[in-house]
Amino acid sequence: MGKCTTEKVTEVKHWTDTLFSFKTTRNRSLRFKNGHFVMIGLIVDGKPLLRAYSVVSPNYEEQLEFLSIKVPDGPLTSRLQHIKVGDDILVGEKAVGTLVIDDLNPGKHLYLLSTGTGLAPFMSIIRDPDTYERFEKIVLVHGVRQKAELAYKDYIENELPNDEFLSEIINGRLLYYPTVTREAFTHTGRITKALTEGNLFRDLKLPKLSSEIDRAMICGSPEMLSEISSILDNFGLAASPSQGRLGDYVIERAFVGE
Ligand SMILES: Cc1cc2nc3c(=O)[nH]c(=O)nc-3n(C[C@H](O)[C@H](O)[C@H](O)COP(=O)(O)OP(=O)(O)OC[C@H]3O[C@@H](n4cnc5c(N)ncnc54)[C@H](O)[C@@H]3O)c2cc1C
Repeated sequence: MGKCTTEKVTEVKHWTDTLFSFKTTRNRSLRFKNGHFVMIGLIVDGKPLLRAYSVVSPNYEEQLEFLSIKVPDGPLTSRLQHIKVGDDILVGEKAVGTLVIDDLNPGKHLYLLSTGTGLAPFMSIIRDPDTYERFEKIVLVHGVRQKAELAYKDYIENELPNDEFLSEIINGRLLYYPTVTREAFTHTGRITKALTEGNLFRDLKLPKLSSEIDRAMICGSPEMLSEISSILDNFGLAASPSQGRLGDYVIERAFVGE
């Protein structure tokens, strides 16, 4: 995934000690599908140090936005977490990925299942008018340990429904289901439990998953992907076998085999 352009950091927000997000300028030539990831990074010891990052911002926005973990000894994020407005950042020229709605069979409900920074590509997908053309209801599930890690919660609950352009399209069709594992909260416990024990469906007054009407996208750690994939398989949903081939659910295949 060769070449990069040098962009400028335009905004930085620290959510917690382990989570931050930032915006950058966007090269005019960068095209991407909502759900895609790009390589981003910094010059370290005279060489580019790059990592894969899902794009948070929808593809029609002028700037790019990313949500990042801070891994204390992580080669990139131990440095990236200190970026400031005006700093340079490398952004790959090519966006790719398998978390795209194009690879889903037609359906009625779209479940976006994420943990931690796995929310990132779904922030782009929930702001894509095409998503609402293709599905009647979008269910965004975000699992984290602590409430403070529910990045974009206020935006999703309060700003997005009033967005100048999207409010009419979204109009009550985006159901947000944040769940927390290590603190008291409205919804608690892991996503796996919410799916297998059915709390998710009861709380949102939706039927249990069925391959007739339900489609899903999953983004999280490799363990989370494999656990949720097998739950979806048990519900009878079929995984998209590879990029460009239709399925009832898609995962970020970059993680497969890690
Ligand atoms: C397709 C794809 C998309 C990705 N999108 C994002 C994204 O949008 N935001 C993001 O922060 N990271 C994302 N990652 C992970 C990212 O590429 C880096 O691994 C991360 O930025 C840490 O880089 P590092 O060099 O500091 O540490 P690395 O050496 O890359 O990672 C060190 C360890 O930290 C843990 N780790 C890495 N990333 C995460 C994470 N996001 N959450 C929890 N633990 C993690 C893992 O255990 C890993 O072994 C993505 C990875 C892939 C393959």
